[in-house]
Amino acid sequence: MPIRRLTQQLINQIAAGEVIDRPAAVIKELVENSLDAGADRLDLDIEQGGQRLMRVRDNGCGIPRDELTLALSRHATSKIASLDDLEHVRSLGFRGEALPSIASVSRLTLTSCTADEAAGWRLRGDGHERFASPEPAAHPQGTTVEVRDLFFNVPARRKFLRTERTEYQHIEEVVRRIALSRFDVAVRLNHNGKAQFELRLADDAEAMGRRVAAVCSEAFLAESSRIEHAGAGMRLWGWLGAPTFSRAQPDLQYFYVNGRMVRDKLVSHALRLAYQDVLYHGRHPAYVLFLEIDPVAVDVNAHPAKAEVRFRDSRLVHDYLHRTLKEAIATRGVAVGSPAVA
Ligand code: ADP
Ligand code: MG
Repeated sequence: MPIRRLTQQLINQIAAGEVIDRPAAVIKELVENSLDAGADRLDLDIEQGGQRLMRVRDNGCGIPRDELTLALSRHATSKIASLDDLEHVRSLGFRGEALPSIASVSRLTLTSCTADEAAGWRLRGDGHERFASPEPAAHPQGTTVEVRDLFFNVPARRKFLRTERTEYQHIEEVVRRIALSRFDVAVRLNHNGKAQFELRLADDAEAMGRRVAAVCSEAFLAESSRIEHAGAGMRLWGWLGAPTFSRAQPDLQYFYVNGRMVRDKLVSHALRLAYQDVLYHGRHPAYVLFLEIDPVAVDVNAHPAKAEVRFRDSRLVHDYLHRTLKEAIATRGVAVGSPAVA
């Protein structure tokens, strides 16, 4: 075959293959966009495990009419403009790839309204490159993205989808992670018209505890201790499951670095060490933990799916986590470091 340029659609579909592997990945991208837009309320409607429909509605800043088409174009982002921005990026997204990728493998509708607009605008896509111009649509300030028939034009991908139940569980896990990372955001999740989560803003310690119970189970809340510790230029807080609440699977482990959920080898290792003397072999601890660290001491740009981070001083972070958690487990979280929390 002679050398040819790939079409934009094919480029987007190839990119989609890397990031959008199942409905839950769509939810993650859409919800992250909503959070980046400053939303404090998320409404998610899912049908048939996301294969038929995923709708994410937010009350964020919205997208102005003349930027709607751009939002669906590759490498178009409002979040960074320079390398310097990239180094200080605080938003969850910045690659400008998610919406065009999703739009290339689904029937996507983007409806939005900004504070400056009297009414909203809607853009529809059918999995092809071209979009008609936006049409007027009633919408309060914020954005709704509707994704129908995911992978309708990528049969190879569709074959890898599991049952409706399994795909839905992956979506729910994504929503759990987000709900734990943003107590200041209300989250409603429906599946096939039935309410699954109905989480109100949690703005005090008690409401936060209630959210943890709703998302992780009452049992976890009852058998965990609230920890809060500052040291080595970092802050660590959250809920640490008692060794008696250990699990057969590592399925209740939430660790956030500056608000971003990570699955990091160094972090897991520090946790494993901290629990090693108090857990039976083959059992896994449960925890919801938040590490806050100077953003310049951590690189979040390490991985496209953004699950990994790179710490500038990984030894320091590892030792701090290990030491603090080990002590917290030994004292069941009481009076670890300062400041203590009621
Ligand atoms: P990225 O998030 O990496 O910038 P995306 O493809 O996910 O790339 O989104 C492209 C752009 O569309 C964003 O930079 C943002 O300006 C806009 N956008 C997407 N979703 C929303 C939303 N829910 N609310 C407001 N703006 C949005
Ligand atoms: Mg994004």
